[in-house]
Amino acid sequence: MVRDRGARPSRTRSSIWDESDSETEWSAPQLSHRFTIETFMDLLTNAVESIQTGVEDYGVASRPRLLSAVRNIHAGVLLLYKEALLRRSPAGSNEALIKSRVKFVPDSKGGIAVVGVGVKTVDAHQILERFKDLGIITDTKLLAEITRVRNEVEHYYPKITQDALRGVIASAFLIIRDFAPRELGEQPRDLLGQDTWNAMLTANELYQVERADCDSALGRVSWESDTLSSGVGKIRCRECGSDLLQPLDAVVALTDVVLSCRACGAEVGAEEFVPAAIEEALSWDAYVAVKDGNDEPYGTCPSCGLESYVLGEGSCAYCGETADRECARCHRAIPLNEMGSAPLCAYCDHLMSKDD
Ligand SMILES: [Zn+2]
Ligand SMILES: [Zn+2]
Ligand SMILES: [Zn+2]
Repeated sequence: MVRDRGARPSRTRSSIWDESDSETEWSAPQLSHRFTIETFMDLLTNAVESIQTGVEDYGVASRPRLLSAVRNIHAGVLLLYKEALLRRSPAGSNEALIKSRVKFVPDSKGGIAVVGVGVKTVDAHQILERFKDLGIITDTKLLAEITRVRNEVEHYYPKITQDALRGVIASAFLIIRDFAPRELGEQPRDLLGQDTWNAMLTANELYQVERADCDSALGRVSWESDTLSSGVGKIRCRECGSDLLQPLDAVVALTDVVLSCRACGAEVGAEEFVPAAIEEALSWDAYVAVKDGNDEPYGTCPSCGLESYVLGEGSCAYCGETADRECARCHRAIPLNEMGSAPLCAYCDHLMSKDD
């Protein structure tokens, strides 16, 4: 494999793979047709090999191979995305759509053309931005799931198992099943080969059955809070990273609900998973709120002290506290980040504590 690639001009690989920022100015006349075709082939071949290797790693299922599976699957999906951008890059544009930097140059007809600059290729964020601009469709939520596991797997999932990773294979399966035919005109089975595609298909079927089981078990708990109910299906086991958690017993008081991981058996109590679920449900809203200078959508409950007080619902998703939002002393509304001192605002609380 290495020898095979060594036979190609070294620039072919570095133009796509070298993420270093060294800027070699583009000069179109030196780029032969052959060069372009070889780059083209390399990208798709590498996408396919990456996914095939990832699925093989998943099958071996030792810890190092599972870590490698996540990296390979993630990289493979991004390479498929780049392939779609490469195919849409205008001829003579130095593959503008997969270059992280572009510039505008006069073309021969008196107009303006865009050309790629340097060797650095687009990152995941840029890929999705360009997809949006060009109307290329993919399920970004599924990609976000794979990316999340990719980022967390080495540090946070000490007990990773094959079962825990099934969701990653399932997400990649769903992405490729739709993306390859629609955006690349390729049939996934032909592209990835019978063995790889069948392994992904089986993993997805199994995962969807388990997912449905978990969702229906979670649906039997009276969550009291819509935010909690929507976030609880998204939390991951902190031992193995699986997102397949289900209640041991659904007909108990919410504070007594214990979730158990289907992949590794680890258990987590409401005190821990409720704040995690609220964060899952509202982290994006919280990010936007902070950016815009608005109240955060959730915060510390003045009664139980957990990060589970949902502003929009006016109550705590864990203990049900409906905090009095008006300060008992100055009668101004207590901001959520001062709820810890309710029924007083932080200022009045401070004054009162001085009086003691
Ligand atoms: Zn687990
Ligand atoms: Zn509470
Ligand atoms: Zn006050």
